[in-house]
Amino acid sequence: MRSVRLLPPLAACFFAFAGQAALGQEAPIPARLVLRPVAAAGEVTALDVRMTIGQASQPDCVGRDFSLAAPIVYAAVDGIADRMQAITLEDPAGPVKLAIRDDPPAPGGFPYFRHFTADRLVECPFTLRYTAVVQPPGGRNGPPFGIRAVGGGLAGAGSGFLLVPGLDRPVAASIHWDLTGLEGNVSAASTFGDGDFAFRGPIAGLMQGWYIAGPVGRFPQGEPRPGGLHAYWLGKPVFDAPRDMAWTASAYAYLKQYFGYLEQPEYRVFMRFLEQAPFGGATALDNSFMLSRGPLKPDEPPLAPRSTLFHEMIHQWVGGIDAPQGVSSWFSEGLTTYYEYILPFRGGFVGLEAYRDGVNKLARDYFINPARGMSAADITRIGFGDDRIRHMPYQRGAFYFADLDSRIRARTRGKSKLEDLLFRLFRDRQSGRTIDHRYWTDAVSQILGDDEGERFERIILNGEDMAAPASDGFGPCLEAIATEFETGGKPRPGYVWKIRDGIGPTDCQNW
Ligand SMILES: [Zn+2]
Repeated sequence: MRSVRLLPPLAACFFAFAGQAALGQEAPIPARLVLRPVAAAGEVTALDVRMTIGQASQPDCVGRDFSLAAPIVYAAVDGIADRMQAITLEDPAGPVKLAIRDDPPAPGGFPYFRHFTADRLVECPFTLRYTAVVQPPGGRNGPPFGIRAVGGGLAGAGSGFLLVPGLDRPVAASIHWDLTGLEGNVSAASTFGDGDFAFRGPIAGLMQGWYIAGPVGRFPQGEPRPGGLHAYWLGKPVFDAPRDMAWTASAYAYLKQYFGYLEQPEYRVFMRFLEQAPFGGATALDNSFMLSRGPLKPDEPPLAPRSTLFHEMIHQWVGGIDAPQGVSSWFSEGLTTYYEYILPFRGGFVGLEAYRDGVNKLARDYFINPARGMSAADITRIGFGDDRIRHMPYQRGAFYFADLDSRIRARTRGKSKLEDLLFRLFRDRQSGRTIDHRYWTDAVSQILGDDEGERFERIILNGEDMAAPASDGFGPCLEAIATEFETGGKPRPGYVWKIRDGIGPTDCQNW
């Protein structure tokens, strides 16, 4: 199971007008959305969307050249705007004609948009109606942003169905689910809440959430209660969902306590178990992630991908760094991947042998990856086109952090470690400081006493080979042994990690 995080900044770049709204101090525009799944013969075929924006007492709530936007492609999900049908926009003066303009295609499966521009001044309140047809089976694999029909309901992300008005102020929205078109014991949830919910912020923020509706399985069972971790799923789970979600809830509680610095009342896990490809993968958005997958493979045990579940939740605390889209993955994905391997061991969720096996899987993926010598910019250009290449920054970043931890400990004679630097960075970011590459290399240089800028550029940005990561980069339990991997009939030099002689399973959990 592979994972990806695709990130609030994505919407921010493409909806610059909406991003600015968060800065404004003006009163929000009232909005009301109704989401109504449409079904035929027990299968969801579409989602009817109706949104009413503004109020009669403030008719000038949008500017001239008002337009709406929807993704044509969003992170390798194709045809989102093409599947929006019967689009109508109406204001107090009647129907508004919309002219269509498409942005040029973005390479690598990255998002680009279709714009619908009004042919006259639009007054408030206006009502937008359309039908978003579900993403059909077939087509390339990518993150599970498209809305798919599954198990008598539907599940996907806001980016997979929302046509977003270009407002220059935030909205105060109420969102209502109309589930009258579905059969059985149905309910709905989203990243933003259980059932109907309120949302305040730039309206494009609604794209950055997961949505699920139908005969939804739930953890914990019973009436939704505030706080903690909640899980929702559709389709036939290929593992014991309540058992594995109870495990996920304990992993979440551990992470929350470990990182400490975020106030997080609630976290939501969404799962969809599909019968037909593309199956998707796992992807985190704020306070939530989606696990989307297909049937078990013939030799696959019926277990949740626990390492992936850890990974997706860790994103919440690792967050991002201010760098160009894709290039920033060395931090967001690299550090999350580093923690994905060390924290289950540190928290007692896996034993020493499983920890070693995890590090060795990471090592193998890294040493045989065809993109080992590729620059961050070249990897970004390939984007979603090649899954092995796309994951290079995950592996390279993880080894960079493991190696850096070893270098910091050596240079400070054990007085300091990587996490002293990371936890300071998290707090600085939280207090509004810009965390960019300059912040990073300056902070590391200060600790190490030599210029990290050059090394960072060489390894992370230019992709020059990190031939031998520090032997003790994964703690004092493990040491690196030179080995030769084989890929495509060719030998590739690398390292495997083995448990040091005389080490007991709990001797080194908290190095
Ligand atoms: Zn990730």
